[in-house]
Amino acid sequence: MQQIIIIGSGPAGFTAAIYAARAGLKPLLFASAIGIGGELMNTTEVENFPGFPEGIQGPELMQRMQEQAEKFGTEVVYDDITEVDFSGDVKRVTAGDGSVHEALTVIYATGSAYRKIGLADEDRLSGHGVSWCATCDGFFFREKTIAVVGGGDSAMEEATFLTRFADKVYVIHRRSELKASKIMQQRAFDNEKIEFVWDSEVSAIHGESEVEGVTLRSTVDGSERELAIQGLFVAIGNDPRTHLVHGKLDLTEEGTIAVEGRSSKTSVPGVFAAGDVTDPHYRQAITAAASGTVAALDAEAFLALLEQKNPELAAV
Ligand code: NAP
Repeated sequence: MQQIIIIGSGPAGFTAAIYAARAGLKPLLFASAIGIGGELMNTTEVENFPGFPEGIQGPELMQRMQEQAEKFGTEVVYDDITEVDFSGDVKRVTAGDGSVHEALTVIYATGSAYRKIGLADEDRLSGHGVSWCATCDGFFFREKTIAVVGGGDSAMEEATFLTRFADKVYVIHRRSELKASKIMQQRAFDNEKIEFVWDSEVSAIHGESEVEGVTLRSTVDGSERELAIQGLFVAIGNDPRTHLVHGKLDLTEEGTIAVEGRSSKTSVPGVFAAGDVTDPHYRQAITAAASGTVAALDAEAFLALLEQKNPELAAV
């Protein structure tokens, strides 16, 4: 049996692992079978993570976090967790290979997934003009013509932010009314670099090695037209990866895992949550890393208390 199992290998998971490992808790971290490193693996240059004034590539940052976690004794398992059982004092998680692992505490840091439009070329051109993160990639679109897909607060925020770099930003929305809050809408309407393309969805993305344009399909009459752009930002929402804990941990109205105040404590004692899976608003590498720290410290405190209350159970 483990003292701590960490599920997730983004900044939250690895930072929790660094802290837990340095506290001598020998964490076992499930890094996923294919998506190791989380969303930062989809990013190119990270320029806003403190300590890297020259910037660092997303995958390299994650590799360094992993190295740091392993250096202090984290065991990393390249498998997905497919089932969790948080009902008893001993928590059980089942991995993709069918093995069952037990721990006194679990840190749940599975992140969130950017919603995709669902086009084949979206993945192919990811990092080559297609992006899900304006704060990560906006800088690369200086003086370009680009588009943002979506009608919510994220799309308005991204479009407005991107006008700092791009000459022209189209906002492509499938309806003729925005979902975004009034203030965010107004900010976008007032920005002369932003042009709205209403009642339209992106039905194809073009470009050999970089985005060169999209086909827009009218949601009213199905007619199609081409739009030449060099970048496409997809901002159609974000889904926290909570499918394994539905009915097992309390969720917020926004669908993230509910935690107590500024702590990482979930509705189940001994289970802690960190990173994007708890965060509907900030979703930055540094805020996820910070919440991983909080989770490791909370788990450490929980284990220390358990040792006093139930030394037999705590003696793993
Ligand atoms: P959201 O509010 O769910 O909006 C998603 C938008 O994308 C909607 O306009 C939706 O269209 C559109 N959409 C969804 N699926 C689509 C698809 N397959 N194809 C085309 N369009 C699609 O998501 P969000 O904007 O990411 O915001 C999430 C939460 O974070 C919200 O609570 C928001 O208020 C908050 N947030 C706040 C701020 C801020 O205050 N600074 C900034 C960002 C986000 P429909 O309108 O037709 O449904």
